[in-house]
Amino acid sequence: MTIKTIQTLKNLHDEGWHCWAHCTGRNCGGASQMDITSLMKRFGAEHCFINETRISARLVCSQCGHKGGRLSISAPSSVRVD
Ligand SMILES: [Zn+2]
Repeated sequence: MTIKTIQTLKNLHDEGWHCWAHCTGRNCGGASQMDITSLMKRFGAEHCFINETRISARLVCSQCGHKGGRLSISAPSSVRVD
């Protein structure tokens, strides 16, 4: 089994990974799943999300209005509803 390097938005999209944005505002645990297709259109498919700042600086929390957040990714689930 080959372990592929996941570092660009395209990698995430192609491998079915999920991207989450987390609010960094105080006392706010706001988080939402990002639409990777939209991110690719805006920032480019080859945009590297490792230590990236362009997307995270533009995050605006819908719960508290805080600007700025952090991104995390999660592997595709191996269990799904068919
Ligand atoms: Zn927030």
